[in-house]
Amino acid sequence: MIIDERLASYIDSLDRGNTPFLDEILKYALDHQIPVVRRSMQSLLKFLLAYGRLESILEIGTAIGFSALLMCEYGPESCRITTIEKDEKRIALARENFKKAGQEEKITLLEGDAADILKTLKGPYSMIFMDAAKGQYIHFLPDILRLMKPGSLLVSDNVLQDGDVIQSRFAVTRRNRTIHARMREYLYELKHLPELETVVLPVGDGAALSVRRSPVATPEGNEH
Ligand code: SAM
Repeated sequence: MIIDERLASYIDSLDRGNTPFLDEILKYALDHQIPVVRRSMQSLLKFLLAYGRLESILEIGTAIGFSALLMCEYGPESCRITTIEKDEKRIALARENFKKAGQEEKITLLEGDAADILKTLKGPYSMIFMDAAKGQYIHFLPDILRLMKPGSLLVSDNVLQDGDVIQSRFAVTRRNRTIHARMREYLYELKHLPELETVVLPVGDGAALSVRRSPVATPEGNEH
């Protein structure tokens, strides 16, 4: 927990909740230790979907389809979602959930490793929701940038790793040390790439919101 636990519970208690079917999937996920977006992240996604005209969404990390269905439910009627997942059991459950929700038309599930699939996509997407293996975000970034147009939004979840991202390297396992180092590198890139404007928020497990800037014309007539 990055912010005070009581404060987080209070903020969550203000939430209006989700549809009964989303609650059902959430319960299944929690009962079976399947990771899903936390309530504060759900709230942030709903806000962004209500605010912007986010009609084409790419999600990296479907799990059993909870966040894809949440985005479908709270996004504009015309919104279409492409979501990527590599775990076969979760793919089967996600397909079942999309069918039960009657949202198969709006959601395209791409099966396989995002590292390969991203290279085959053309985009652009109005929003990309990054919610896969945390150590891989940095490797996905070049393709993510290619799939964004000016004004596109990139939402990256779990970027502060419950605050562990700044843990002393001696206090964490070697595996987590690598993941944390890659996440710090990712956050540095998000904040320093001239194409992006990024804010890192202590929401849930840490969320980074990045918008792709419009190209700026230089006095020589070039764009950068
Ligand atoms: N977005 C989901 C939700 O809130 O309902 C949760 C996604 S869960 C945190 C991350 C998922 O990403 C896992 O199901 C995992 O199998 C998948 N994943 C991790 N690395 C991946 C990769 N390289 N390609 C495709 N899927 C990946």
